[in-house]
Amino acid sequence: MTSVLFDGIGLLYTGDPEAEELTDAALVAQDGLVAWIGPAGEAPDADQRVDAGGRCVIPGFVDSHAHLVFAGDRSAEFAARMSGVPYSAGGIRTTVAATRGAGAAELTARTAVLVAEMAAQGTTTVEIKSGYGLTVEDERRALRVAADFTAETTYLGAHVVPPDTDPDDYVRLVTGPMLDACAPHARWIDVFCERGAFDGDQTREILSAGIAAGLGARVHAGQLGEGPGVAVACELGAASADHCTHLSAADVEALASSGVVATLLPGAEFSTRSPYPDARRLLGAGVTVALATDCNPGSSFTSSMPFCIALAVREMRMTPLEAVRAATYGGARALRRDDVGVLRPGARADLVMLDASSYIHLAYRPGVPLVRQVWQAGQRIF
Ligand SMILES: [Zn+2]
Repeated sequence: MTSVLFDGIGLLYTGDPEAEELTDAALVAQDGLVAWIGPAGEAPDADQRVDAGGRCVIPGFVDSHAHLVFAGDRSAEFAARMSGVPYSAGGIRTTVAATRGAGAAELTARTAVLVAEMAAQGTTTVEIKSGYGLTVEDERRALRVAADFTAETTYLGAHVVPPDTDPDDYVRLVTGPMLDACAPHARWIDVFCERGAFDGDQTREILSAGIAAGLGARVHAGQLGEGPGVAVACELGAASADHCTHLSAADVEALASSGVVATLLPGAEFSTRSPYPDARRLLGAGVTVALATDCNPGSSFTSSMPFCIALAVREMRMTPLEAVRAATYGGARALRRDDVGVLRPGARADLVMLDASSYIHLAYRPGVPLVRQVWQAGQRIF
């Protein structure tokens, strides 16, 4: 039994809708879980005491959308895009070639670097997708690498149709032998539903096969244009529809009534110089919104949830409170987790101490390293 008392918390953002913000608070973590929350100075004794010195404490970020298992570098493509070359789904193939050519140890080492980068910026739960292998063996290998770092592993064989491959043949592979190989290593299945990737019927077929194999569904939907992705996600009871940059009125209504989380990925719009999703429209309709990095080498190579919070506030007109909520509680909803993204007794003791009096500083001071300490399951990891 080990316990840690965090005392002198100037502002505790809990993420718990019942008591979302507490001032002059204390928190006790015991055996990896939150054991007690209450007023500063009144906490029970603990083995270790950490004085927050009036700083703000928030739950560890839940980054519910990331593509971390890859090799290669697409900085030249980024530079070209900044000079006016448009983004298309086809760039994924460049990373596929580099990833297939890399050894498993290299992929693991590269993923570890990105996970550590995320931890240093306050992320304590991350979802990791496959999708740069696109063969049975390469997809299984990516998921095995991902599973070393998280329980939230996502099979994304349907990222893009590989070159010189018939789309129908590829869908048969993704829903057949590739699914059989990958399902034991995955919790989720995802499809890139977009022009140039997979259409609505293919998305429905692939997700349905994954659901039948015991996986939960999530969809890349409406990134580059309106399409059927959100409708299929809502129809099949997916946990989350991700991107949601281009939505019809029916899409917004379907998200609100189905409870499917809209996961917004403003790093992608930033890095492709594209219009941002309309977060106010979604929030106004009562949709649960999550924020995630979409960390990937092509369209959003950031591992920083604080950066995404700053973008959400500045570019998508979310309030700082809405943005922090979306980066913690929202991300947890997108992964159907109630033990993370929130600080309340019984939840995992994942918390971030900021070098600031309020989480508002995450947007107010963009680009400044404000993460002072990160604790995961009651252990200090940064
Ligand atoms: Zn993505």
